[in-house]
Amino acid sequence: MFQTIYIEHEVESLPYTQNIIQHFKNAQIKTIDKVEDYWGRVKKPYLQKRDNLNLYVGRKKGQLIKKAPDAYGTKNAEHYYFIHAYNCIYECEYCYLQGYFHTPDIVLYVNHEEIRNEMLQFIDEDKEVWFHAGEFSDSLALSHITNEWRDYWLFFQNHPKAKLELRTKSSNIKPLLDLPPISNIIITFSLSPEQEVKKFDHKTASLKARLKAIQELSQRGFQIGLHFDPVIYSEDYLARYRLLFQDVFQNLEEENLNYISLGVVRFPEKIYHQVQKNYPQSQLLAQEFIVSKDGKVRYPKPMRMKILNDLKKELLTFLNGQNKVYLCMED
Ligand code: SF4
Repeated sequence: MFQTIYIEHEVESLPYTQNIIQHFKNAQIKTIDKVEDYWGRVKKPYLQKRDNLNLYVGRKKGQLIKKAPDAYGTKNAEHYYFIHAYNCIYECEYCYLQGYFHTPDIVLYVNHEEIRNEMLQFIDEDKEVWFHAGEFSDSLALSHITNEWRDYWLFFQNHPKAKLELRTKSSNIKPLLDLPPISNIIITFSLSPEQEVKKFDHKTASLKARLKAIQELSQRGFQIGLHFDPVIYSEDYLARYRLLFQDVFQNLEEENLNYISLGVVRFPEKIYHQVQKNYPQSQLLAQEFIVSKDGKVRYPKPMRMKILNDLKKELLTFLNGQNKVYLCMED
């Protein structure tokens, strides 16, 4: 998967790092002083990730925990994200990582103890505080190699008011199956109808595999979150999503459904231009887009609201009157 692995001298002997090296016996290993001196220093086109990808392993410096944007996550709670990785092995056509960094090469930060120590500054035992992993990567795609979540489990068991979200488009749940389900760690899956997964979510787990992972985790009592986001318009979107909701709720124990988010495809302007450049024939670009007040490129508001309302209404029919749905970036 990786041609060269660059490892910061400082983290070379850490068990996390050694574990990563063990998984890539054929990769060339180079020791470096700082990831920042190399990663993204020379611009590398995003699509080179298809056949030339390097890995950097290092210690994240500076601010490790950041406030999540306003319209992020459930209401009446504080939301933060933490940075433990940059970039992703998958290739979704709408991914905002294209054009966000100067390179698609992956960085894995292994100073997890420091990340958890910084979390302590934000945890308030009287308030619900969420920490989201995977703002700049997929939280589970490489977790059998990075092996970090076991240590977060112990931490969150001791801080029941704090919540951890691990968000994925993988079905890589094996590393979680040895861990006990705890109510404040929520495994969230981004889902789209099968046609969209095939068309736009390259190299991710198939919809069938994601649904199987949901079923397995749910049966074991893990808390599950669902992101139907980004919704991409098609003439029969409602029928496609209806079928998807049926499949999902067949696989999910109701008491283990934590929350659902719904969001319509949107991009920062710069990323939209990257999508046009990287995927000029993509059906993603077939609809009319506008630049909205917040500078994001989106479908016109009436169209977005119609899609969201239709899907929310449909979802509520599966939820026995419980409103666990929030509209991501629209509320
Ligand atoms: S899984 Fe997420 S981070 Fe990875 S390519 Fe797809 S949208 Fe981007």
